[in-house]
Amino acid sequence: MKLAIIGTGYVGLVAGACFAETGNNVICVDKDEKRIGSLLNGEIPIFEPGLDVLVQRNVKNGRLTFTRDTVAAVKASDVIFLAVPTPQDENGSADLQHVLEAARQVAPAINGYKVIVDKSTVPVGTAAKVRQEIAALTTQPFDVVSNPEFLKEGDAVEDFLKPDRVVVGSDSERATGILKELYTPFVRTGNPIIAMRVESAELTKYAANSLLAAKISFMNEIALLCEKVGADVNEIRAGIGSDVRIGKHFLFPGLGFGGSCFPKDLQALLYTGQEYGVELKVINSTIEANRRQKQLIPEKIKAKFGSDLSNFRIAVWGIAFKANTDDTRESPALALIDSLLKAGAAISTYDPQAIEGARRQFGERIGYFEDAYDALEGADALVIATEWNEFRNPDFAKIKLLLKNPVIFDGRNLFNSKHLRSLGFEYHGVGNG
Ligand code: NAD
Repeated sequence: MKLAIIGTGYVGLVAGACFAETGNNVICVDKDEKRIGSLLNGEIPIFEPGLDVLVQRNVKNGRLTFTRDTVAAVKASDVIFLAVPTPQDENGSADLQHVLEAARQVAPAINGYKVIVDKSTVPVGTAAKVRQEIAALTTQPFDVVSNPEFLKEGDAVEDFLKPDRVVVGSDSERATGILKELYTPFVRTGNPIIAMRVESAELTKYAANSLLAAKISFMNEIALLCEKVGADVNEIRAGIGSDVRIGKHFLFPGLGFGGSCFPKDLQALLYTGQEYGVELKVINSTIEANRRQKQLIPEKIKAKFGSDLSNFRIAVWGIAFKANTDDTRESPALALIDSLLKAGAAISTYDPQAIEGARRQFGERIGYFEDAYDALEGADALVIATEWNEFRNPDFAKIKLLLKNPVIFDGRNLFNSKHLRSLGFEYHGVGNG
């Protein structure tokens, strides 16, 4: 099939490369000149494991190309995916300006039946708005389909190539059939392609993200209680996760959820509830609990060293909102550093991929290191803010030697508290006594 992907970011580039990998001809479009320039030079503008190999292979075999020319890309394609940002607007709603702008750019180029696919995460009613925008600018035939994306950054390629399910929301049998054909190579093990009405597809994405976020906030809350009563949340996680109704995933407490999706998607769902007069109490509490959780580690640091941290240096390992990505949007590590700076602390940071995100936010106000251990020199404590694999089994003797005080605040519960204490560390995890 011939495909155009409008928006070549974390979702668009992964989708484009994976569709090309299964034999389609894909044109990835982006309005960002620098981004298209680097892709044309063979550089991958984001860090996502496995993506570089996939992009290079498909560029070489001629199935994947990059351009800034939306019109040419649409003319040459049967299916057009909109994978542009839907950031949070000031009132919490999803800002649809990029989606509707892309729809307006696509419309005049339609030269025969096309399927326009909303891949971006968009609130209920957006497919209808996209249809309206396009219909105002063309008399050519087209259908609009909602096909939300469920990939996780850090595992995006794997998730796209082997999705748990594919959701297709449409009232057109023709368009649904085309999308089913497109996705069939990805579900050979029997995972479902679920056709549903457009509104259900749009809401499914928000329901999925909100339930996952609620699970995290729930465990964070149990962890707070654990600290007071002398229980260990890791033991509770094992105790409840073995119940198949609960499941083992997403039961890890930490320093609050972040990223480019959960925070904005929960706010957008809350807004949809308000628009339709439905008070979404669980969603609201999930957001509130997360706000509190982001202050947990700063509060613990202040409880240890005092509320004025101007004579203290804190080393922070991890800036990315999760491991295996360079994405720092809404990263809890940034919120943590911000709180510590406000309390007067000096900060030394290390992250294997995401230092640029911290540099954009804090400039010269904090220190950046290319080696994790260099960031520890003279620091009063170490905070673990991202669960990168390379932090899981570090040289504890070296850490102890470099830190001024052997104090670790482990915001991801990477370490065993007993082991760390036996090595002479003062260890503060999340919810483990
Ligand atoms: P991103 O910011 O990484 O990429 C979006 C790209 O679209 C940017 O490169 C931007 O320059 C480009 N763009 C914007 N308007 C354009 C236009 N009119 N024409 C051409 N290019 C345009 O965003 P992302 O993280 O890939 O997210 C895209 C959408 O997918 C969002 O709605 C997001 O909520 C959703 N989503 C994201 C993830 C994720 O993990 N990142 C997962 C599932 C769904």
